[in-house]
Amino acid sequence: LYAAKDRGRNQYAFFKPELTLKVEQRFQVEQYLREAIEKQQLTLVYQPQINVSTGEIVGVEALSRWHHPILGDVSPVEFIATAERIGMIKQLTEWVLITACRQAILWKKQGFHNLRMAVNISPNHFLDEAIVPLVIRTVDETGISPLELELEVTESVVQTDQRNISVFKALKDFGIHLAIDDFGSGYSSFASLKHLEIDSLKIDKYFVDDMIADSSALLLISSMIEMGHKLGYEIIVEGVETSEQLKTLKSLDCINAQGYLFSKPVNASEISTLLECGRLTGCA
Ligand code: C2E
Ligand code: CA
Ligand code: CA
Repeated sequence: LYAAKDRGRNQYAFFKPELTLKVEQRFQVEQYLREAIEKQQLTLVYQPQINVSTGEIVGVEALSRWHHPILGDVSPVEFIATAERIGMIKQLTEWVLITACRQAILWKKQGFHNLRMAVNISPNHFLDEAIVPLVIRTVDETGISPLELELEVTESVVQTDQRNISVFKALKDFGIHLAIDDFGSGYSSFASLKHLEIDSLKIDKYFVDDMIADSSALLLISSMIEMGHKLGYEIIVEGVETSEQLKTLKSLDCINAQGYLFSKPVNASEISTLLECGRLTGCA
């Protein structure tokens, strides 16, 4: 069944003994993950988001990490998909939200104000209206201002599904910042952007990778930045790795960026050091 499903919809697969082994392995990983989420054994790292003209850290994106004693480090792309499949994504997101918001409050107590905390929300989770009370409860419990919390959702939710629209609206009414993640890479629906109250677009790394060598990628990214600004969105460009890319982005009036050039995702105390450093002239 899994082998057929992996090939897409309406597929078939013949049984082979190796498949039993694969299914057993998969089941084992699912068990490990279930346990890790229940026992809160995942960790969070944070990647700075930078204002490219001042070099100042304007926010961080929280990213989950899972290190298992036997499996080692498992990629978030893999374990997030597994968590979705086994119905554990809500529990995982709940933990990410509360942990990230508590951390944001700790940084505030250390004197770092106006730092936005971005949290990834799985598209399916966004279809569930229970996400709204969960976010409200997290904000109330932790004391973070809704304006300082940004939820990132991928383009696949930007469809005119009535459930999405009401979830977007309820979160927006509560004051939460909403960002479209991986913008430009998925099923972009400009028509639905019009219906949704979104604050930021995160332009996918794909365009940044190609923009130096490929003039059409450059044209696309510059058009997306210009269009985004004209529509009143904040723009963040993801996956900036070289100073040449940064220079080009500055020339396109890009304001915020994120990528290895500035910092890889790091633990909370390393972010504190970067924030400290950012206040010293010449250090950022
Ligand atoms: P994403 O949300 O698009 O996150 C950005 C990914 O790009 C992160 O990978 C980050 O480490 C990586 N990245 C950032 N700058 C650069 C760069 O300059 N170069 C390159 N090559 N990569 C860069 P990561 O942490 O492996 O996460 C992968 C994906 O897993 C995320 O993509 C997100 O979709 C998902 N994910 C991670 N944590 C969570 C979570 O807590 N909840 C949910 N729902 N998804 C998560
Ligand atoms: Ca993201
Ligand atoms: Ca992204």
